[in-house]
Amino acid sequence: MQSLIVTGGLAILAASFVLAWFTGGRPRYLMLFALALLLVDVAFIGMFLRPLLPDDIALPFSNMAFIATQIIFGESLLQRRGKSFGRTFIITAFVLLSAVYVTLYFTSTIEIRTAGINVGLIVVFAVTLKHIWIRRDDTIHDKLIFWTFITLGLMHSIRTAGVFFNQDIANPQSVFWGFLQLYILLLAMILTLEILASHFLERLETANTLRDRDHLTGVLNRAGFERAVGAIYAGRTRVMVSLVLIDIDEFKAINDALGHPVGDAVLRRVGAVLIDQSRADDIVGRIGGDEFAILAVDLGAEGAGALGERIRRRLDEDAASGQDRQLAARCSVGAATINIERGYETLYAAADAALYEAKRLGRNRVVSGSSIVGEDRVAGNADVVSFPSDRRRTDT
Ligand code: GH3
Ligand code: MG
Repeated sequence: MQSLIVTGGLAILAASFVLAWFTGGRPRYLMLFALALLLVDVAFIGMFLRPLLPDDIALPFSNMAFIATQIIFGESLLQRRGKSFGRTFIITAFVLLSAVYVTLYFTSTIEIRTAGINVGLIVVFAVTLKHIWIRRDDTIHDKLIFWTFITLGLMHSIRTAGVFFNQDIANPQSVFWGFLQLYILLLAMILTLEILASHFLERLETANTLRDRDHLTGVLNRAGFERAVGAIYAGRTRVMVSLVLIDIDEFKAINDALGHPVGDAVLRRVGAVLIDQSRADDIVGRIGGDEFAILAVDLGAEGAGALGERIRRRLDEDAASGQDRQLAARCSVGAATINIERGYETLYAAADAALYEAKRLGRNRVVSGSSIVGEDRVAGNADVVSFPSDRRRTDT
């Protein structure tokens, strides 16, 4: 009865890995986990068949399945971390350990062969552990799997030691074996829940990243940008936040003269320049058709103006140098820097008004300032006195 529960339970866990494989991303390690669990089942079934099958078949068969389990289990843990034993190691380890076991089985006592096989398996353990050695920055998922794996290794050692004191330990009808099977099922359940949970978390993260990216330029799309900005505003107080808005000049004309595909290539270039010029922590997004934005914490008003100017010049220099002439674009930039407590709406209104002013003054320039909200004016390329605060931009 208990054997049925254990083998059935392991099969169900294996099936859940296969299902997870079908539903998301199809990473190979999920199939390997399923295979490892099925191999444990095969090994158990070999043991249960002992009354029916001659021992000389059932025991080597089961133990070879255990050897394969151990290696595949290690390999699946490694593949989950983007590593691998490599095919040569896997085949060599399996053939070598099986050969040693079979030789010992027919030539030595139960103590020697049990010790032999378990020492071999502990070597496989050690090699796996060497690859997945826990680091301080490892996630709770990795730590849990690591310690579960260690427990499994300990169990192996206890089993090996036990054979020297009580040979009954190797008998599937023994209390020890009953305990061992339930324990393996429990570990497998913990690992399965853990691995599947982190697998689906990863899928969710990937889906979120894809949802938030602008496919054309690779920077955040409008929704993604706003989500990221929301996170910045939710978590901080008493810092200065800068918003730099970049709008391509006469972009419609580029589209009309050179065609939409060239227009798209220009947008991709602008995205690349923005990523290149901003810091890793800055939030870069495409918030309209030809309008981009960078939100930066603690950059300062001067830094924001300088960032805008670097971007403007990079795009303008390309235009002047004739390098990649088709992809050249000029842009107007509006920058504003305001204390985070005044909210994003205020910051956006200030930067947007600055951008409008840059366009009004003749384009291809940076205007930085926040006089719209009564802040101290900040020096930019143009002197800004006041901005209409009720203007609504209609371009996208
Ligand atoms: P301004 O200097 O005032 O900004 O002039 P503009 O021509 O850039 O004017 P506007 O910002 O209104 O034009 C934006 C254009 O961007 C209009 C639209 O056809 C084009 N556009 C929007 N999305 C895309 C896109 O994904 N690819 C391409 N190629 N063009 C786009
Ligand atoms: Mg434009």
